[in-house]
Amino acid sequence: MKKALCQVVGFGPAALGVAVAADRGGVLDRLLGEGLVFLDRHTEGPPGGRRLPYLIESNSAASDFLGAVDPAGAFAEALAGPAARLLSDRADRHVPLTVAGAFLDDLAQVVAATAPDALIRADVASLRRGADGTWTSVTADGTPLVTSRFAVLATGGHEDTALTARRHGIPPSRVLPSGELLAGKLTYVVGRLRAGGQVAILGGSHSAFAAAALLLDRLGDQAPRHGVHVVHRTLALGHPRPWAMDRPAAAPVMAWEVCEETGVVNRFHGLRGVARELCLKALSGSEDRLMLHDATHAPPGILSRADLVVHATGYRTRQVPLYDVDGRPVALSRSDGAVDVDDECRVTGADGAVVPGLFGLGLGYARQDPYGRRRVGVNVFHGTDADHVVRAVGSVCPA
Ligand SMILES: Cc1cc2nc3c(=O)[nH]c(=O)nc-3n(C[C@H](O)[C@H](O)[C@H](O)COP(=O)(O)OP(=O)(O)OC[C@H]3O[C@@H](n4cnc5c(N)ncnc54)[C@H](O)[C@@H]3O)c2cc1C
Repeated sequence: MKKALCQVVGFGPAALGVAVAADRGGVLDRLLGEGLVFLDRHTEGPPGGRRLPYLIESNSAASDFLGAVDPAGAFAEALAGPAARLLSDRADRHVPLTVAGAFLDDLAQVVAATAPDALIRADVASLRRGADGTWTSVTADGTPLVTSRFAVLATGGHEDTALTARRHGIPPSRVLPSGELLAGKLTYVVGRLRAGGQVAILGGSHSAFAAAALLLDRLGDQAPRHGVHVVHRTLALGHPRPWAMDRPAAAPVMAWEVCEETGVVNRFHGLRGVARELCLKALSGSEDRLMLHDATHAPPGILSRADLVVHATGYRTRQVPLYDVDGRPVALSRSDGAVDVDDECRVTGADGAVVPGLFGLGLGYARQDPYGRRRVGVNVFHGTDADHVVRAVGSVCPA
């Protein structure tokens, strides 16, 4: 078993933020030297697997993926690579997620090259708290992996299609996670539409409209009229500033929330780019291959009629079970299936108290803004969120 100062479970997009923030704060070498390690179950491709393998454009501006990285720091090499150059060229525009993912893979390669021992390929089945307050990661067969004073959960989220199927009385085999579709599993869905079938996409998010745009793009004129249906509650368009707002008349369910920090309207969930354009076209009636359904009061019949339902209503935490010093499960506070963290990204228990030494970072643990929206975005995970982790871990680490 290895001893470390801080173990990060997961080495996906969010986990990288710990290394990026440590570098930005000038403490990366020190933390790696004292024992900052990353554990990930992915064994193929770059360390931690290929990141963001989706066939759509980002909802964020390209520069958001670069903004947290110190140009004079350890990741300068990644910033000089082809993916970073493409991101930099696109600046405030949207960018294919595969490009953003390639840049994140480049960041991971830098960590792998700088400190190969800091990366551990392992499937963490649980984290157990010791009598001295440390956390030990353990495999499914009970083998201890790493013991550390701090642990960061960065295991991401999953789409609970079984729950959605149960809630709406749909056979589970007819519900597909949006992530699979966006990652290119399109053949069956496209085939059903070509044959005149109908596909319902559940959710009004970027993923939902991006999935609809991807299907319509693949099918072109072969997409049947009213073949694709988006079933939403509120719709939220992104606007760079309140005065740039162009609220369409035919949109009774528009959300309107102004970020206190940036002034951006619907900062974390507003539609942008291709997704926004498609939503506006559907609202104006100029896109007859797509129908919108407001499910605020009742689920529309299309959910039971459709050949396939694409789940795009968000992610639940991919959780690693936690046990206290007596071997009892530690219950965590959750909202909508995601684990709650406080303002400093510390994981909170079901009793509302902070779980000592434990942080949450990324999709399954995103902090909430004043409207209760999860602050999801690589720039947030690599920026303020990872800063909280690095500050706490660095504070006990000798200079
Ligand atoms: C469709 C889509 C569009 C997006 N668009 C944007 C965008 O416009 N802008 C933006 O900033 N971000 C975007 N994102 C990225 C998003 O912000 C998140 O950063 C990302 O999806 C999740 O990153 P993560 O590291 O939290 O989780 P994941 O990517 O799921 O990574 C978790 C890692 O933990 C590992 N893991 C999980 N459990 C264990 C375990 N028990 N033991 C060991 N390892 C484990 C996994 O192997 C994985 O490598 C998008 C994501 C999606 C899906």
